[in-house]
Amino acid sequence: MSYKKTEEEVRRVIKEKYSDYEYTRGYIGGRGFLYLKCRTCDTVFKYNAQIVRDSRNASNTKIYCANCRAIEAKQNRHLRYEEAKAERKKIKLLKIREKEIIQLKEKELKLKERLRKYVCAECGAEFESIHHNAKYCSDVCRKRIENRYKEVSRRKQLKRNGKIDYSITLPKLIIRDNGICALCGVQVDVEAYDNDGDIFIAKGMYPSIDHIIPVSKGGTHTWDNVQLAHCKCNADKNDSLNLKFESQGNKTNAI
Ligand SMILES: [Zn+2]
Ligand SMILES: [Zn+2]
Ligand SMILES: [Zn+2]
Repeated sequence: MSYKKTEEEVRRVIKEKYSDYEYTRGYIGGRGFLYLKCRTCDTVFKYNAQIVRDSRNASNTKIYCANCRAIEAKQNRHLRYEEAKAERKKIKLLKIREKEIIQLKEKELKLKERLRKYVCAECGAEFESIHHNAKYCSDVCRKRIENRYKEVSRRKQLKRNGKIDYSITLPKLIIRDNGICALCGVQVDVEAYDNDGDIFIAKGMYPSIDHIIPVSKGGTHTWDNVQLAHCKCNADKNDSLNLKFESQGNKTNAI
């Protein structure tokens, strides 16, 4: 076998043995160099021409493109960097979450320490609260007792206003006023209520006894001072009266 090959032979050997590369130029003999082009990145580089010698075993020689290796290394570095970044982020989030859980547990514990046992002044049920001197187990109980106080003070006011006619009842007033609301002129609805357990809850269209001159302004509970009104209309009237009273301040001696 001849020691020196033609460029065509060299081209063929490279093609067969090192298919990732292509011979371009430079072969002058087995001792010199030749220029190979990387098929992956198109870079041309110089390589020892001994690789095309027949004595060389192709399986023993592996050619690496320096450019491709650099790119690969860079990509690997980038990948490792991204992985490390993601890992750092994960650890950070975990630490935050752990801290949050600890804080939540501490908060719960503190709340538990502050919980005191009370007995509801309205329904007698035992309940726990963090509030100092808590009186009622729920809003329902608080509302109920507030309404009762309101009603008591209203009755006291009625007594102060003078004569109270105990013959006045809602059913009688409905008959006298033909079931029409004196404030808006629309029929009242005796079915407009809810029953929440033992609590009666009137809805807006339910009838109510309205005092033409309000009790707070000295109105009496007598047939000539009462008229039928929807609960809603009655409440609206009282609200606007209260607003008026508030804006007038102490000038009005309402009570
Ligand atoms: Zn390459
Ligand atoms: Zn209660
Ligand atoms: Zn009405």
